[in-house]
Amino acid sequence: MIKMTRTQLDHLQHLLDERERILQAHLQQEHAAREDFVQVASEAPDSGDSSFATLSIDLDNAAAGRDMAELRAIEAARQRMHSGDYGECIQCSCEIPFDRLLAQPTAVRCAPCQNNFERNHADTGSRASM
Ligand SMILES: [Zn+2]
Repeated sequence: MIKMTRTQLDHLQHLLDERERILQAHLQQEHAAREDFVQVASEAPDSGDSSFATLSIDLDNAAAGRDMAELRAIEAARQRMHSGDYGECIQCSCEIPFDRLLAQPTAVRCAPCQNNFERNHADTGSRASM
C-alpha cells in the first residue's frame, strides 16, 4: 500500500492548508470586486458601460468557479488523508510519487493515468464541438 511517512503526510497537509488560505483570500477579493462591478452596472447611464461590467462579472465568475473547484479538491484530499487512501491513484491504485503530490497535493491520479484522463477529455471536447 502507500508507504508515505507521517512527516511527508504532515508536509502535504500543510501545503493543502496554505493553498486553501490563498484560495479563500482570493475568493473574498473576487467577491469584493464583484460588488464594485455590480455597483458600476447599476449606475451606468448607457448600455456600453453596463455590458462591460457584465463581462467583468462573467470573467470573475469563471475565476471564482476555478477557485471553488480547487477548494473542493482540497477538501476531498483531506478526506482521503483521513480514510487512508490519499496518495493512491484512483484509476490504477498505484502509489502516486511523493514529488508529484508535492507539486500538486490534490492529485488523485498518477501521471500516466492523469495524461490518459486528460487525453480522453480533450477527445470528448473536440468531438462534442464538431
Ligand atoms: Zn494510475
